[in-house]
Amino acid sequence: MTKRPLKPGSAIGILGSGQLGRMLAIAASSLGFRCQVFCPTTGPAFDICVGGMTAKYEDKAALAEFAKSVDVITYEFENIPVETVEYLSQFCTVYPKPNALKVSQDRLIEKNFLLDCGVDVARFYDVTSIENLNKGLYDFSGNGVLKTRRFGYDGKGQIMLLEKEPISPVEAMNELGNVPLILEELVAFEKEVSIIAIRGVNGDVFAFDIAENVHQNHILKTSTVPADIDDALNVKAKEIAHNIITRLDYVGAMGIEFFVVTKHGKQNLVVNEIAPRVHNSGHWTMDAATHSQFEQHIRAICGWPLANARRHSNVVMENLLGTDINDWQFYASQEDVHFHDYAKNDARPGRKMGHINKLSKWA
Ligand code: AMP
Repeated sequence: MTKRPLKPGSAIGILGSGQLGRMLAIAASSLGFRCQVFCPTTGPAFDICVGGMTAKYEDKAALAEFAKSVDVITYEFENIPVETVEYLSQFCTVYPKPNALKVSQDRLIEKNFLLDCGVDVARFYDVTSIENLNKGLYDFSGNGVLKTRRFGYDGKGQIMLLEKEPISPVEAMNELGNVPLILEELVAFEKEVSIIAIRGVNGDVFAFDIAENVHQNHILKTSTVPADIDDALNVKAKEIAHNIITRLDYVGAMGIEFFVVTKHGKQNLVVNEIAPRVHNSGHWTMDAATHSQFEQHIRAICGWPLANARRHSNVVMENLLGTDINDWQFYASQEDVHFHDYAKNDARPGRKMGHINKLSKWA
């Protein structure tokens, strides 16, 4: 395995070729690294990387060849098979380590891990039968969210079960398919916020300011920083992030999503989920902070010290979904707006095509 810190000129392997891989590769190139991408399909990261391989995550020969050609490997999304990352680890250091994937790929394992960390999560039932789903719903006064344990994203793989709604528990189970499920209590949240935390090889932890997130059709639309939350909550979110990331002996950037709930007039945080990668709600850091989440992730996995990144502006990050991207000339002409295009060809409805960071007064 290559000595750390990795020198500029070293090679970084990225699993996954989406926009997160692309922005990681841009940040890595700025620091002098050369990126190689590995993905079953081509995507926006291929434009930036100096080389790439399109092969299946199960193709051991291709994985071994890839691993031997780079000095460290990372990934841009959490549904890479754990076996792939474990196999690659025989040849090359992979950060974050596979344990973070194991936890975040299964909502039941994730919830139990978070409870072990002593943080609040929505009450939940491991749904093993219709009887136990009904028991859970009864316990949650008829309102819950039924979710697949694995492979859910952007609201896919989940159905709201509300007392007044026509969909029955059996129908919901059938619609989600014959897969392991979890029922969560419907959290009456005030708002949704998230934090991006980064842990270095030496155990140092850095956390960016908390973002307040608004979703549209279950897809992130805007992240606003600073979030409109109590100061005490800012401190608490950072403590929770420190605790989670340290317990996992994690290296790299992690996104942690929270619900803000008010109990007895006091705001509190409930962890919704963790993502072992750079996160959409951290894109604001590209233009409103001295160092971005992408640079911090690259620093971490290369054994560099984390930057003491500071936010220098207030900011609203807005995702450009589907045909929003056709208005690129408008966005590019706005004052204090930084425009980012992921160079995707097909502007399908809801597809993340780019984003803007609109800066306002200096913080
Ligand atoms: P997830 O895929 O778990 O991040 O869920 C996507 C979105 O669905 C969240 O950002 C929330 O807006 C909503 N949601 C998920 N779980 C719950 C819950 N237990 N209670 C209320 N809303 C939820």
